[in-house]
Amino acid sequence: MKVDAYKRDWESGERVLYRGKKYNIRIFTHKEKTTSINFNGKRFEIFINENVSTNDRKTVIENAFRKWYMRTAYESIKERLDYYCKIIGLNYNNLRIKEQKTRWGSCSKKGNLNFNWKLIMSPPWVIDYVVVHEVCHLRYLNHSKEYWAMVEMYMPNYKKAQEWLKKNGLGLTL
Ligand SMILES: [Zn+2]
Repeated sequence: MKVDAYKRDWESGERVLYRGKKYNIRIFTHKEKTTSINFNGKRFEIFINENVSTNDRKTVIENAFRKWYMRTAYESIKERLDYYCKIIGLNYNNLRIKEQKTRWGSCSKKGNLNFNWKLIMSPPWVIDYVVVHEVCHLRYLNHSKEYWAMVEMYMPNYKKAQEWLKKNGLGLTL
């Protein structure tokens, strides 16, 4: 089955991925112009303006979800990044969450780190691996033996996370 074979309808009862788990969504209409998303730990509740046409509904909800994922990805990844930087004893310059097609993360010479927002759909231990992967690049800007030894020191089961991404990465989509 092709990854893009499934097109979401964005109606109540659809399920979305968050931190490796699938949650139901429920859509409500309200009088306010804004679209808002609330995650209560059990499901997602989406509030959308009552005058949005059926045609526009999909786009409006999809955009709201993308924004929500981006913001949540920033908060969670920053928390993990600060945690691992403290343990490992390294500092980064700037953190950005991006829409990237082929990469999970990257690290520049200046210590700027980028992460793919879709990571927030994967389980926490996979997110941690990508964070550790990039933090270790703050010391080694390559994939040398020394580099991988460092990754393994802080994340002994990193190969499991790599396999998870290989197997499920393409399926992480809105
Ligand atoms: Zn790398």
